[in-house]
This record gives sequence, structure tokens and C-alpha cells, in this order.
Amino acid sequence: MKLRKDDIVTVLKGKERGKKGKILKLDLAKLRAIIENVNMVKKHMRKTRDNPKGGIIMRESPVRIPNLMLVCPRCSKPTRVGYILLTDGSKKRMCRKCKEIL
Ligand SMILES: [Zn+2]
Repeated sequence: MKLRKDDIVTVLKGKERGKKGKILKLDLAKLRAIIENVNMVKKHMRKTRDNPKGGIIMRESPVRIPNLMLVCPRCSKPTRVGYILLTDGSKKRMCRKCKEIL
């Protein structure tokens, strides 16, 4: 998997296209990710101990991982992820645009 938790990604498709956010959660089995402040939906909450009033809150709903692209923290452009093999044999992710190791 090319994406990881805490990566900044941008959405390529759908109504949230162009939005950027941090990955809060990855569900690799379902190919879905929760991204901070992206794809917000209203959610009805039951009354619980933590939330005694219940009611409606805004919550992130999952986005399909194939619709996401990593945003490079160095050049801050959306980029495809490349891989680089280091001399010690470890494989690292690399920004294809600025060659920064991510
Ligand atoms: Zn870059």
C-alpha cells in the first residue's frame, strides 16, 4: 500500500475533488480512508454517556483509496509514489516530482 496514516492526500474524483486532508484512518480491506475534514456528512448520534444530548454532528465519511493521491510534504504537489532502494536494502517511498524520500 502506497498510502499511510497521517499522509496528506488530495481527492481526485467525486464531489470532494480537489480537497486536501490528512489520513486519519485506512481500511485496506475495503479500500477506504477517512480524511480529516473531507467528505463530511451529518450523522445522527444516539444519546451516550459522552454525548448526553445526542443529536446531529458532522463526521468524516470514508473516501475510496483509488480516488486519492499523495501530496508531497516537500514540494506540496500531488504526486504518484515511486520507490527507491537504499544501499542498506530498505525500500523507501519517494516523490516522483522532487525525488524527496517520504
Ligand atoms: Zn515532492
